[in-house]
Amino acid sequence: MKEFSCNKCGSVELFIKENGTQTGLYCTDCGKWVKWLNKSENMLAENWIAHIKMVDKHIKIEGKLPLGLMPKNIWEEKRLQDIVSAMVRYGEAKKAIPSEWIEEYNEFRKN
Ligand SMILES: [Zn+2]
Repeated sequence: MKEFSCNKCGSVELFIKENGTQTGLYCTDCGKWVKWLNKSENMLAENWIAHIKMVDKHIKIEGKLPLGLMPKNIWEEKRLQDIVSAMVRYGEAKKAIPSEWIEEYNEFRKN
């Protein structure tokens, strides 16, 4: 992902503002203009802003709550998916699938 940051304060929290015919990228923290964006950069900057917002939200939530435990059924489902995709990757690379993976896979199938 293309990363953007303010070259004055180093903040990664930015926003896009139209300025006449040009589109500018600005710093949310200090208000400094970062750069003008062309069409493709505009999209990259939008992706970046969305990414930062998501990361920020995540940090805020995690900061408030102690980290909990993933429900067992979800963990099991994810584990099963991981095993299956690992088997597929090994299969594609023509590598022997470790027997403990197969055993674990069979365990899941039984339940
Ligand atoms: Zn700044």
